[in-house]
Parts: sequence; C-alpha cells; structure tokens
Amino acid sequence: MTRHINLSDPTDLDGLRLYLKAEDKDQRLLSLDMMGVTISSDAHLGVGAAVKQALAAAGKTGRANVVVLVDKSAIKREGQSLRQIVEAQLSPDHAVRTEVLDDGHATLHAHEQTLDAATAAVKGADLVVTIGSGTMTDVGKVATNRNGDIPQVVVQTAASVDGFTDNVSVVLKNGVKRTIPSRWPTFVLADAVTIADAPLELNTSGFGEAISLFTAPADWYLANLTGLDTTFHPASMALLKAAAAEPPSWAEGVSKGESVAIQNLTRLLALRGIVSGVSNTTACLSGVEHVISHMLDLYHAAHHKPIGLHGAQVGVATLVATRIWRRAIDTDLIKPELLKKPDPAAMEQRIKAAFGHLDKTGAIAAECWRDCQKKLQLVEANWDRFQSVVANWKDHAREFSKMVQPSETLRPALIASGAPATFESLAPSINPELARWAVANCHLMRNRFNLVDLLDMMGLWTPELIDWTMATTKTPAKAVA
Ligand SMILES: [Zn+2]
Repeated sequence: MTRHINLSDPTDLDGLRLYLKAEDKDQRLLSLDMMGVTISSDAHLGVGAAVKQALAAAGKTGRANVVVLVDKSAIKREGQSLRQIVEAQLSPDHAVRTEVLDDGHATLHAHEQTLDAATAAVKGADLVVTIGSGTMTDVGKVATNRNGDIPQVVVQTAASVDGFTDNVSVVLKNGVKRTIPSRWPTFVLADAVTIADAPLELNTSGFGEAISLFTAPADWYLANLTGLDTTFHPASMALLKAAAAEPPSWAEGVSKGESVAIQNLTRLLALRGIVSGVSNTTACLSGVEHVISHMLDLYHAAHHKPIGLHGAQVGVATLVATRIWRRAIDTDLIKPELLKKPDPAAMEQRIKAAFGHLDKTGAIAAECWRDCQKKLQLVEANWDRFQSVVANWKDHAREFSKMVQPSETLRPALIASGAPATFESLAPSINPELARWAVANCHLMRNRFNLVDLLDMMGLWTPELIDWTMATTKTPAKAVA
C-alpha cells in the first residue's frame, strides 16, 4: 500500500476501500457502496454537486426528477429552513418535488404504513434527497431500495445514531424494532451547524451509542474466540480499534454544540456505520451494553410503555459493560477450573423465571428460550475452544485490554457530554429494581454470546458481582468511578 490511510476517517471512502481490499483476501466483507461522506461545517451546500455526481453515476444526464423527502419537523439552519436551502440548490437544474411524510405521530415512526407511503411518494423519481435524522434516513433508504435502488442523497440533521452510513434500516414490525437490509446511501452530507441545533437529547444519545465502541468489540472478539460468532473479521476490528484509540476528550463540546465536538461525534458514528455495514452484522458493535438496552425495550414493550432513546440507554449500559470487562481483564476473576457446561434444564427454568412475568401467554419467555437453546448447542459444539480460551485467559486479556476503556474514563465523558449516566436519569426513568433485572438476566435473552454468558458459566455472575458492576450507574454520581 503506497498511500497513507487514516483508518478512523469515515470520509476517506477510497482509502477505506483500498485498505479493505488489501486486508480481505477471501472477500468475506461487503463492498462499501457509498460515493461520498462529508462531515463539515457547511456540508449542506454540497447537495447540488452530490446530486449531479450521483445522477451521472446512475447514467442519467440532463434534467432529472428529484424528490426531496422530509418529515413534518421543520429543520432550521441558523434560522433558515434547511429544506429551502436544499431545494434552492436543485431547482435551477431539476424538476424538484417535495414530499412530506406524516404518520400522525409527533415524530415519524418507521412502521410498515410509513414505509409504504414513502415508497409511493418517491415513485417516478430519478433521485431522492432525504433531510432528517435516523428514522427519516432509514425510511428513505427503504423507499429508494423499493424503487429500484435509485440514488439517495442523505442530509443528516442529528448525530443520533450510526445508521446514516450503513446498508440497513431500523424499522418497526408489530411495534418491535427490527433491523432489515436496505441499501447504502449514495452520499451522506453531515453539516455540523445543523446537527449542533438538533434537540440535545438526540446528540447526547448518539454519544451514548458511540461510546459502546470502547467495549462492545471485546464481546465480538470473545464470541469469535469461543467459536460462537462467525462474522468476525480482523480488518473490521482494525477499523474499530483505530476509531477507539483515543477516548473522547471532546465530550463536553457535545453538550455545548461545539462544531469540533459535533464533527468528532458524527465521524465516530459514521465509522461505526461503515464497519457494521461492510461486516454485514451489528455484532461488532453490540455487546453486553446493547443487550441490556434491549432488555429495557423488551420490558417497556411488554408493558405497553414508551421505549427510551436507544443510544441513551446504551450509554448508561456501557458503563456496566466496561466495568465488568475491566474486572475480567485486570484481575484474576476468570479461573479455568471454574468453567462448567451450562445445564439446559436449569437454564430453561431461569429463563422462565426471568421473563415469564412479562406476558400472560409466556410467549416472550418461550422466544428467549428458543434463542438461548441455539447458544447452548453452540457452546456444546465448541467446548474445546471454551476450555482453551479460559486456560489462556491472561494472553487474551492483553488483546481485550486494547478494546476496553475503563469506566473511570468513560463515565466522566458520558457525564460531560450531557447524556444520562445513571439508569434513573434515563427517560423513561429506570428504577433500581428494573435496572438490576435487565443487567442480571441480559445473557438469557438471546443467542448472541458475551462476557456475561462466560461469567455465568463459571458461576461468577452472582448477586454480589452484579451489585459491584452496577455501582457505577447509581446516584450519587461522585461516589464511584
Ligand atoms: Zn446501537
């Protein structure tokens, strides 16, 4: 490789493609099919040029039919309508039609009716420009995908999620969030001035999501070592490590809407999207902390209560994940002689006890048990690898150490960003009992393997250890690191 490539730069797509091509000899990764990602303090001015390039690449010359797809939130940039700024760049050269999606909710929900409405709204377009945050972008990805993958230019208006720069969409199926394949956007334009003006809880939620980068890859690596995950790729891991090399010293700037901090946050999220996109899995960025957040969603959905912001929950849960991971890395907690095969009958009883109260039919517990059975079968099939991993734990710990920042670093950063750093300060607030339920049983919910599964197999996931692990997420804020 002759050219220097900054692996943590999500805007250098050619560089990343060169790197991935060189490191992915067996071509297991998906191709990075975006033409451009711009993150700057005037990226919104690039819409005209991006549309021109995208149309040319699609073989369309001359005047084109362009649909500007928005929801009803009137997004402003320094007091001016962002939509009008975008339309003004396009209308001299193209036939521009603006379509406003409104499903009756205060903020757009990505349920099937919305996806159908969006698909119909962009019919006949040569290209679609979406303006909005994560949901709007995801809906646009599905709508353009269902219209023959016509080019999509994304104008990103919040740093709330990492889904702007990936090839999937998070949608609602029967009220439950599901990730479905959709497409890569053609261009992503992230203007830091607009993003800084987004509701603060969106950007701080993005920060919560972003910091899971400092622990989740360890769970992915562990699942790979034990043979329970087959999606692991060293090139993807190298990108994640590069992005996580420096803890976010700019966190405080997020709470103040400072341009540099907003750009750093947007870059971190964009890189996450790219890595999970080419890896074709969210497993690389979804460990203990994500499953804790999923537990809270499951509980709220079962009780027909509003679901909290994903990233905000993930941020708090990251403090739990990082604390238990550092204990496993830095102490002699893991002792090879403690490893025991899980007893399926006992697991089934525990899953019933953990989830049986969520619904009258027992369907949720049955679903969790079905998923966990797959995990138990894989544990059985890979037992030699388990024994080897714990026997050589000290060696592995050196690798894990590079993937996990201590909570002493992440907690002050989370607080400085303005994001919730305790379960109780989340919206909706999570009481101590519910938080403990979510943390204690997080490994019983689904088939993905993480550190808590291993600790449980060793008889280490005890009430004492759970309490110790959670101490970092309780008020008063200053008592524990
Ligand atoms: Zn996430």
